[in-house]
Amino acid sequence: MRLHALNCATLRPASGAIRLGRRGAVERTSAVCTCLVAELDRGLVLVDTGLGLLDVAVPLRRLGPGFLAAMHPRLDPNETAARQVERLGFSRQDVQDVVLTHLDPDHAGGLSDFPRARVHLFAAEHRAAVGQPELAPLGRYRPMQWAHRPRFELYQPDGPRWYGLDVVHQLRGLPPDLKLVSLPGHSRGHGGVALRSGCGWLLLTGDATLRPGALSWDFPPRPRWLNRSSPLVGSSARTRHRTVEQLAALGQEHAREIGLFSSHDPGDLERCRGWLGAT
Ligand SMILES: [Zn+2]
Repeated sequence: MRLHALNCATLRPASGAIRLGRRGAVERTSAVCTCLVAELDRGLVLVDTGLGLLDVAVPLRRLGPGFLAAMHPRLDPNETAARQVERLGFSRQDVQDVVLTHLDPDHAGGLSDFPRARVHLFAAEHRAAVGQPELAPLGRYRPMQWAHRPRFELYQPDGPRWYGLDVVHQLRGLPPDLKLVSLPGHSRGHGGVALRSGCGWLLLTGDATLRPGALSWDFPPRPRWLNRSSPLVGSSARTRHRTVEQLAALGQEHAREIGLFSSHDPGDLERCRGWLGAT
């Protein structure tokens, strides 16, 4: 399958926004929201959606003041997956499936731009975000982003292990070259998405490694309360650390077979594009 790696939102987090550059210059860090587009015979698969056109148009309503204050998104409609899919020469209707790492607003915001697409994700993530609307005021998830009632396809990690990781046996209607990998910790049902292209696998690890990153980034810093088990997050620091260790081991043992890329590191996005160009 042919793959494209897109940045579907630029974030400039308040925390850690200023850092000392290599030559001692003060610079402002920014984060990307990496999404993937896979071209299949039957249509397109979008992996994560970044921020959507409605998020950009009415950000306060859609994203909430907390997200805006913490992340300072660029809010550029040209960065949305909808616009970028069109620039690739497709229509939005060509996106028939969306596979999500999780439902945080910077990953799920574009869902409403592809209202007919089936949305594949772990049942645990759906339960945490969609099944607990009473937690919405606490701010992590933004139910408005799925108010159009997309057709969710929900999964358990029930497949045979893939490189030592728990995965979904088979995503409905999608080829076996596309896998949903269980990487819990950042959120209760957080996953990674693996795609096979050319001579190797690519694994988008989402936000699994955001904190003390054995893989690379710990960006943006998470509030300390997110480290504890809570109904909002639903996973413990131990779970997250276990996931990070699994990914670090995967990266060490299978670096030639699998390219690992996190969602927010601009360097990872560049490496991912290089990987796709090389395979
Ligand atoms: Zn994120």
